[in-house]
Amino acid sequence: MKAVILAIGDEVLCGDVINTNAAYLSAVLDTAGVEVIYHKTVGDDEEAMRESFLDAFNAADLIVASGGLGPTKDDMTKTVLAASLGIPMVYDESINEHIGQIMGRANMPITPNNQTQCYIPQGSVPLDNPLGTAPGVFLEHKGKTVVMLPGPPRELTAMFENFALPKIQSKAKKSFAEKYYMTSGIGESMLEQSLRDALPKETPGYRINTYISTSGVRIKAVANGVSLEESAAILDRYEPAVLNAIGPYVYAAEKLEIWEATAKLLIERHVTVASAESFTAGLFAEMLARTPGASLVLKGGIVSYSNEAKIQALGVREATIAKYGAVSAETAAEMARRASELFGADIGISFTGVAGPGPSEGKEAGTCFIGLSYAGEVSAYEQTIHGDRDRVRTRGAAAGFARIYKALTSNQGVKP
Ligand code: ATP
Ligand code: MG
Repeated sequence: MKAVILAIGDEVLCGDVINTNAAYLSAVLDTAGVEVIYHKTVGDDEEAMRESFLDAFNAADLIVASGGLGPTKDDMTKTVLAASLGIPMVYDESINEHIGQIMGRANMPITPNNQTQCYIPQGSVPLDNPLGTAPGVFLEHKGKTVVMLPGPPRELTAMFENFALPKIQSKAKKSFAEKYYMTSGIGESMLEQSLRDALPKETPGYRINTYISTSGVRIKAVANGVSLEESAAILDRYEPAVLNAIGPYVYAAEKLEIWEATAKLLIERHVTVASAESFTAGLFAEMLARTPGASLVLKGGIVSYSNEAKIQALGVREATIAKYGAVSAETAAEMARRASELFGADIGISFTGVAGPGPSEGKEAGTCFIGLSYAGEVSAYEQTIHGDRDRVRTRGAAAGFARIYKALTSNQGVKP
């Protein structure tokens, strides 16, 4: 099944709003086995919309449009689509009732333009919008399917997952299979080379893509067989070669960020953590707290940005900082040890470095030290992270998770 994703709205076209709807829809459709052939953005312009609908209708089996379903004058997705396909608009009482309920709940009067929202192309099914007034539309016409969704991502996601996706899934027959291998601690070019060396020159029906993410390098293996079963068998056939080449760097065989994988492992094993953070300023703790159940393992943390905080709040020796500097392996090690002692945690993790953009203490931006105190041992690692301040801070925190993950899984081989 082929699909086209259309984003509608001047605000997307001129760059005021980032087209996250297309990215989201593409990812979900891809998983559902639908091949997205292109994305397009059109402004609130009748002629441009008409042309785009007709092109999409020719090229694909499924068209998913987002935006322009609201009550205002520039919201004309439904009417333009219907006119393009020569379908009349009909009044739908169930939509009127829904709008009445939503507006009543919000204590807002129903305006005449709300009434325009009650019209949908004949033969289509309205899709419930529990989070807003604009209903979606599901239309089957001449063997093709058109789904129209509201622009606000929260509304779009809820509606798509609950009402549109199940209908699409029953039509799309997925035959390809995919598998993710999440890696950390290896660069993309090295990883690519290792994979190329390990896999046969020709891998019919099998391809590998690599992407760089905050966690590290993400590998996506895609197998294209005639059936889902055959595709799964192709993935299995090449997996030993993949793991043989890069196994030690793989922390998960599913799409999982390093902070999620580490949090799950910590929770599973009842291992507690405390952090001492300088250049990451709490980012590590924040990332750990994203996983439900984090309260079982995150004891606490100290944002020890200044030297005084490192000395007074954390208890790092003044002499250590004076002798080696705040950005040093020695200070990182002491920060980690003190964090675990102060909070009585199994693991103490610390971050000290130069977030940039300029150098500090004579050290270049991107110079980072991560300290780890675990099982009676304290160590510190130096790591250089290239990029802007934001990148140095997020990658620095992510690297801390990778250290913990490694410490917890060393001598155990690879999980997948
Ligand atoms: P509403 O009833 O809220 O007006 P609508 O379906 O008419 O719904 P639009 O008016 O097109 O939607 O867009 C409303 C808001 O939704 C935009 O201001 C923007 O914040 C968000 N939005 C629209 N399109 C996209 C998109 N492609 N990606 C991300 N956000 C979007
Ligand atoms: Mg609108």
